[in-house]
Amino acid sequence: MLVTSMKSSSARVAKPHCSNVGTKLSIGLGLLTSAFFVCAAPSANPTANPIANPIARPGDSVQKSLPQHASTDTSATTVCEGVSLQVLGSGGPELDDGRASASYLLWKDEKANVLVDAGSGSSVQFGASGADFTDVDTILLSHLHTDHAADLPSFIKGSYFTRRDTDLTVYGPAGNDLMPSTHAYLDALIGKEGAFKYLSSYTQEGEDDYKVSAHTVADTTFSTSISDDISIAAISVHHGPIPALAWKVTIDKCVAVFSGDTNNADGTLANFAKHADVLVLHNAIEDIEKGAGSAATNLHMTPKQIIEIAKESEAKRIVLSHIMKRSEAGLDGLTEAIAVIAPGRVFAAQDLMNIPLVSDLTREEGR
Ligand SMILES: [Zn+2]
Ligand SMILES: [Zn+2]
Repeated sequence: MLVTSMKSSSARVAKPHCSNVGTKLSIGLGLLTSAFFVCAAPSANPTANPIANPIARPGDSVQKSLPQHASTDTSATTVCEGVSLQVLGSGGPELDDGRASASYLLWKDEKANVLVDAGSGSSVQFGASGADFTDVDTILLSHLHTDHAADLPSFIKGSYFTRRDTDLTVYGPAGNDLMPSTHAYLDALIGKEGAFKYLSSYTQEGEDDYKVSAHTVADTTFSTSISDDISIAAISVHHGPIPALAWKVTIDKCVAVFSGDTNNADGTLANFAKHADVLVLHNAIEDIEKGAGSAATNLHMTPKQIIEIAKESEAKRIVLSHIMKRSEAGLDGLTEAIAVIAPGRVFAAQDLMNIPLVSDLTREEGR
């Protein structure tokens, strides 16, 4: 059978590789020497040198950090062991920014468990990451703009060529006059009368394929467990007129929070992300003094807001993502500002960057 032969021939590729790399960073406080882990994307070509194909693009000032304060909590040494956050898409909706649109993977023990957002191009980067779609327990959508949700049918069609036989739930926001609910979105794509109804065997009972279902998050706060060691939670956030969610994923005790697109009008993001192991913040616009208009600030956080959220959240790591041309000019300055104030590391996202979340930073840094 076609399916069987395709499945048996789909050899799994290597998982992310990490290497300890030293760096020196001068950020006004003097010369700080620290180290960080650069994780190269596993290559589809197993003979390729993963470091020669780096996703962190050494030389770019994309990873800047302050040494961590030594922790007195010995239990912290095991939190987030084996967990990493991989950026599949670090861009917004622009066509010529050289980035895939927003998407993130959470890995645990070399398995990609959770996909957060599925923006344009993310299904291609998923393949480049070396992830196996059979490992993905759930897909979380922050909202249904194309740069966050357009590749969903590509993932489902692509799964035909994997061994996946377990059901999949897609969680996302409720609808309004401008946007369908997550349930209606999935139905409009792969339902019986959907645009891609040739994929409706994934939604119709009685068909052989595993089932894809939607869970529309209609409440302003939401949480549930999706497996023995993974739980998810969401809060509604303001993104102009678009229903949107910020997501929190907890793997064992390791917490990753994703702002999604929001201007944080409700002021809830920092508390939602309090002490998270990683907080992904979307840096889509510039500050008002630099030209951000009211339409932009109704949709997105300004860099000044991002600095405040990073500070208030006390998250261990900050990832700046959803980079657009209008925000990229200020990205170095924003990165350095957060490196000064945040109790941890700050990363300017690039596609396929992989960030280990293990909490024993002092050990990683050899201090
Ligand atoms: Zn967006
Ligand atoms: Zn958006």
